[in-house]
Amino acid sequence: MLRIGLAMLQGARHEHIEALMHASLEVGLQIEIVELRKAVQIDSNISALILPGGESTAMRKASQSESLLGGIFDWMDKYPNRPVLGTCAGAILLSNPGEDRKPYISAKISRNAWGRQRQSFEAPLDVLLDTPKSIATEELELQRDHFNHKPLKMSHEAASTNQEFYPGVFIRAPRFLPESINCTTAVTLENEIVGILDGVKLALTFHPELTLDRRFHRWLIVSAKKNYS
Ligand code: GLN
Repeated sequence: MLRIGLAMLQGARHEHIEALMHASLEVGLQIEIVELRKAVQIDSNISALILPGGESTAMRKASQSESLLGGIFDWMDKYPNRPVLGTCAGAILLSNPGEDRKPYISAKISRNAWGRQRQSFEAPLDVLLDTPKSIATEELELQRDHFNHKPLKMSHEAASTNQEFYPGVFIRAPRFLPESINCTTAVTLENEIVGILDGVKLALTFHPELTLDRRFHRWLIVSAKKNYS
């Protein structure tokens, strides 16, 4: 079974878990989600990894006591062909891992470059990355919360079309510096590049886990299957 690590640092972790569960059903591959809290949990059995959004400074600080980020970067150095999805602050960490480490994506990134929290926005995006189609015929029964509440029943049909991803959610999002990008364009917002692929590292400046279209999570799982060695 594929084991997908999720850095439990801050930010929309639970939404990533839900997105991964759906994506696993959509591609017909079983996964185990490993909630990473300590560096010691990261071993050779992790086949892919998600660095979620949040506040990158807070994430760096939160990671210090258990050296989680250091452990994740060591794993990336050891297994460069295992896929990683970095969303928003996760993309910042891939571009600027700190601690004298070399960037994991060939692009510089500017934090909070669209403005403050109030300037957060949603927009339709164009996806250039080839992502696996959903083959799911059944719907996932979402788990009840600890009050035994059923989660909000939103439409499980994503509003996206083939190439269009809707909505792309940008929350105090960073921007790639266009002249610094030296890898494949994966997603655009009009003329702006908002997603890049460098080898098997996919860095998105938006939050795909907040949209019902799970194609980037499907990409992660299928790439993990292809590249696991
Ligand atoms: N503004 C955050 C940062 O600079 C990123 C925001 C996000 O992940 N939604 O780290």
